[in-house]
Amino acid sequence: MKRILFALIILSGIIRINAQTLIPSPEQLIMAEGYFELDDTPIRIYVQDKRLVPMSLLRTEMLENTDIQTISHPNKADIRLQIEKGIPAEGYRLSITSNYMEIKAADKAGFVYAFQTLRQLREKNKNLWKNVSISDRPRTKWRGFMLDSGRQYQSVTTIKKYIDMASMLKMNIFHWHLTEGLGWRIEIKKYPQLTQKGAFVGKGKEQQGFYSQEDIRELVRYAEERNITIVPEIDMPGHAEAALASYPELGCFGLPVEIPRTGFTKNIFCAGKEHTIRVLKDVLDEMCRLFPSPYIHLGGDEVPKENWNECPDCQKRIAEHGLNDTHNLQLWFSAEMAKHLKKKGKKAIFWGDVIYKTGYPLPDNVIIQWWNYRSQKDLALRNALKLGYPVVCSSNYYNYLNFPVTPWRGYKENRTFDLRDAYTRNPSYQATQENNPLIWGMTCALWTDDGVTESMIDQRLFPRILALTEQMWHYGELAPFEVFHQRVNEMKSWFEKEGHSYGQAFTTTP
Ligand code: ZN
Repeated sequence: MKRILFALIILSGIIRINAQTLIPSPEQLIMAEGYFELDDTPIRIYVQDKRLVPMSLLRTEMLENTDIQTISHPNKADIRLQIEKGIPAEGYRLSITSNYMEIKAADKAGFVYAFQTLRQLREKNKNLWKNVSISDRPRTKWRGFMLDSGRQYQSVTTIKKYIDMASMLKMNIFHWHLTEGLGWRIEIKKYPQLTQKGAFVGKGKEQQGFYSQEDIRELVRYAEERNITIVPEIDMPGHAEAALASYPELGCFGLPVEIPRTGFTKNIFCAGKEHTIRVLKDVLDEMCRLFPSPYIHLGGDEVPKENWNECPDCQKRIAEHGLNDTHNLQLWFSAEMAKHLKKKGKKAIFWGDVIYKTGYPLPDNVIIQWWNYRSQKDLALRNALKLGYPVVCSSNYYNYLNFPVTPWRGYKENRTFDLRDAYTRNPSYQATQENNPLIWGMTCALWTDDGVTESMIDQRLFPRILALTEQMWHYGELAPFEVFHQRVNEMKSWFEKEGHSYGQAFTTTP
């Protein structure tokens, strides 16, 4: 093992590592003099508990596939991976000295995030790190990124890219929006038409395709290695035109439906027909077998009720259960699906729309995702807390990263925001600061309305997603915006090296 002397590095003047630039930033970071280089192979690694350490991740993402050898004595190891029970969940302690590198964590997540920190601190194309001591842990327990694969289809490779990005940004949830009016993307063996037809109802080149169950198993494994839980979403009863095009009998009138180019139509799943309820429960059964996630997202947003008002089956259901109106029918329908998940030991997540008005009771395995800040302010958040439901904060101001920085297609001026807005004025961040244990954290979202294709995703996300992950992860006060903005600029070339390109941060230079 060759050790590089600090003095030599100063003299050479060619190596510059700014170890203070990490996004999201750690709770505590202390710089030390000197460097640690791993240039002899195989790299000797001591692993106290192999079940808690994803070694393949360490090797492929942090060590550029350098040969490694696990050894049984920490004292002789270049890298020491040790369990320390007192470290908070998902937290880690990393110390890099001139002779070795040591990571301590209490769980697998802690090791994963320590590896992601090493990935950002690693000098370009070299197994070389500046000496540093870091103590770190997350501020919130739910840190999510949502991708809409319904309106636009993305390849499995692209899905992996964004699962990896989420882990790199120390998130732990990949919320996968899998069904929309414009496409049903998840293979369901019992109802093959859902994908055979429903995955190809859009007109665009990038609106064709679906994920086979084999693809999904591979993605679940890939995510699991990176401490990412994939939370799948089947939107119901609205945003269902692709499913209704595949099986028209699932709607109120059994008729062929129009596929929306943008937005949604009045054609939704029928809440009165037993057959529709049965099919949707079958779909959930297959999803529960595919996704180990304890959470399944059932949508519930933007449900026009015209058809339910006219449908004899829906009206019969309302009468049978003494429901006052179609909002209560949606609550009954949502409760029915959530109870089905409860039997399988899973929790159901709904968009905030379901609790704008109270009524028919939802079961206790429900989580509310607050989104529509623009038109309803914090109504869903407050109602959820009043009713005792946990909340995930995704207020569209400023977590909807599909809202561009400058107007674009259907996105007018009032649906734009910049890096400073996201960092300094995010209602979701403010909500998580209430320290209410029911407020679990935040999810930022990339909807693909109006044709946000694969190649456009990065520039919508970056750099604004860095403000959001800083809010989700950083344990402590946020740095002033100017300081954060400088870090964002310093990290640009690193993110580019990792395959992510920055888009606009501001309409004009601030
Ligand atoms: Zn109906």
